[in-house]
Amino acid sequence: MSARLRIAVQKSGRLADKSLDLLEAAGLHVVKGANDLLFRVENAPIDLLRVRDDDIPTFVADGVANLGIVGRNVLLERAKPEDGPCEIMALGFGRCDLKIAGPLGFAYDGPRSLQGLRVATTYPRQLSRFLRENDVEAEIVTMRGAVEVAPRLKLAHVICDLVSTGATLEANGLAAFETIARSEAVLIQSPQPLDPQFAPIVESVTQRFRGVTASRDAKYVMMNAPRAALPRISEILPGSDAPTVTPLAGREDYVAVHAVCQESVFWETLERLKAAGASAILVLPIEKMM
Ligand code: ATP
Ligand code: ZN
Repeated sequence: MSARLRIAVQKSGRLADKSLDLLEAAGLHVVKGANDLLFRVENAPIDLLRVRDDDIPTFVADGVANLGIVGRNVLLERAKPEDGPCEIMALGFGRCDLKIAGPLGFAYDGPRSLQGLRVATTYPRQLSRFLRENDVEAEIVTMRGAVEVAPRLKLAHVICDLVSTGATLEANGLAAFETIARSEAVLIQSPQPLDPQFAPIVESVTQRFRGVTASRDAKYVMMNAPRAALPRISEILPGSDAPTVTPLAGREDYVAVHAVCQESVFWETLERLKAAGASAILVLPIEKMM
């Protein structure tokens, strides 16, 4: 039996389903078998090691898993990031910000406002880096969870926590006033030398992941336009390379323009294209891209 590449993923939680969705979108069929710890990919020599997210960087650092999918916030909280796993690519889901928040009405006027205060967090390393960089001395109260209750319990004056919608803060009478780091799920690779037989699999997985993340926002845009409007239209198309231009049967002055736009195409963009002379504008989703 030949060896199988291991990817560590969160077993349950905010990243769990989306990690599996990414693998599926990359054409890797995950079989949810009886073994809870390891899921097999049936059409590639890959196993998923399902663990708590906090353990993923350690497993990948030690080479127990070759790759991992984890929040950048968790990766950055490692004791010695320099000899740990490295981030190969951002995956575009699980987005959140590490923010400083305090009771409504807290008069925040820049990092100096934190001088001498107690700050509760589950991310002491990133918080202490932020305080150090801003030359602020504050006491860090490290908690395992439920940081948002700390101000109410008078355990801390303010908190430093992950925020995506802000609903949890609001429910606890808190408001955010500073972002200290941005996070999303990232693909990480072990610093351990990669077994040469795994190299093509890692290459294929990363290429496919890139394809999936790139095609998520990307759109295929088609339209007819006067030839003279081409420079203006290329300018308007968001995040596209040179468009494909083909002649229209029986029309000397008109062409068909096709382009892949890497960024979201909004109604405003379509209105501007129309104003530039384009007609029959179609925006199509892209399923795969390489
Ligand atoms: P585990 O049981 O695996 O330890 P957990 O409770 O530590 O899970 P989750 O709450 O499932 O972790 O969050 C996993 C990751 O999801 C976070 O590390 C972060 O990268 C991302 N995330 C996205 N939005 C948020 C948010 N609003 N709050 C917390 N994490 C978020
Ligand atoms: Zn966790």
